[in-house]
Amino acid sequence: MQTPWESLANEHILGIAPYEPGKPIAELERELGIHDAIKLASNENPVCPSDRVQKAIQAALPGLNRYPEGSGFYLRGALARRHGVAPDQIILGNGSNELIELIVRAFLRPGEEAVIPHPSFVVYPMIVQAAGGIRVVVTLKDYRLDLEAVARAITPLTKLVFLANPNNPTATIVTAAEVEQFITRIPNTVIVVFDEAYIEFALGPDFPDSLAYVRQGRKVFVLRTFSKASSLAGLRVGYAIAADDAVALLHRIRQPFNVNALAQVAALAALEDESHVLECVRMNEAGRHFLYDEFTALGLKYVPSRANFILVDVGRSAHDIYQRLLHEGVIVRPMTSFGMETALRITVGTPEENRRLIKALRKCLEEARSA
Ligand SMILES: *Cc1c(COP(=O)(O)O)cnc(C)c1O
Repeated sequence: MQTPWESLANEHILGIAPYEPGKPIAELERELGIHDAIKLASNENPVCPSDRVQKAIQAALPGLNRYPEGSGFYLRGALARRHGVAPDQIILGNGSNELIELIVRAFLRPGEEAVIPHPSFVVYPMIVQAAGGIRVVVTLKDYRLDLEAVARAITPLTKLVFLANPNNPTATIVTAAEVEQFITRIPNTVIVVFDEAYIEFALGPDFPDSLAYVRQGRKVFVLRTFSKASSLAGLRVGYAIAADDAVALLHRIRQPFNVNALAQVAALAALEDESHVLECVRMNEAGRHFLYDEFTALGLKYVPSRANFILVDVGRSAHDIYQRLLHEGVIVRPMTSFGMETALRITVGTPEENRRLIKALRKCLEEARSA
């Protein structure tokens, strides 16, 4: 039965499962009677924004009576210099999530297809469905995007392909050689979206140079964000790089002030603060190796990670272990909704958070075994 409001709604959205945000940590602590809970569930940076960024935000506070700089002039300029492209090839978004939405709204007509790997970022199918597009789901192979299968899934109706690299929730990458092979097989009427939210953690000689495909004039969007390595998830700022005429289409449909004033100054300061990113990447690298060793000691299998999170197989109901970890004040993400009944996705934390996670996980696994 539809409610009266549902019967008025755009039918494309009725089949969408609502995104389930976690509770505020303070609420959870109150409910469970715990304190000092740690959140390793959303792949945020465990390190707070740098002093430089916090000072830039402070300095911008008295100007908040004014609307933000609507063209993102300074931030787009700095990003253009950083990436060796023209400012007109860059559009800012209220997080890179907004850019996914703008791309879908600009290009995907109702009834056209978007190829979406699975499991991957849950936002792609939501937005495609909301636009009345058809989701063509391609299953991962050995926890990695299967570019062969993605290429085979393309039909005359295909308009978009979403590739998260590294992929969320598996933290695996597709390599430069694989992408090179793939891209030459893709018709020039199909738009490939490289979502590189975690690129800073993944860089290496095998990582693809997706911007080279923009320069070659391929139908490619590259998405980046300040939410992960730059510690600015709370401010919502990301960007897309593409051909200037592709970017111009997105500018037509964005809200005039889609990126707020504090986000713009913070991102600009963060961009100049490369040492923050470097330190976070280094800490993450050490954290991954610590967790690999500890998982192995606990007899758990994991997928080697090129991002700031790890997919780990707890060998029993992941939802049960998730619940038990909550009572220990450790919040992780069970992969049950992805159909992975025994997997948890755990964000790499600070060294102290990682130790707490392992201590709690050891306890919970023991309890679950003897339950
Ligand atoms: C975290 C994440 C993002 C970042 O989204 P923002 O809106 O920029 O915070 C984008 N893509 C993937 C796959 C992610 O996991």
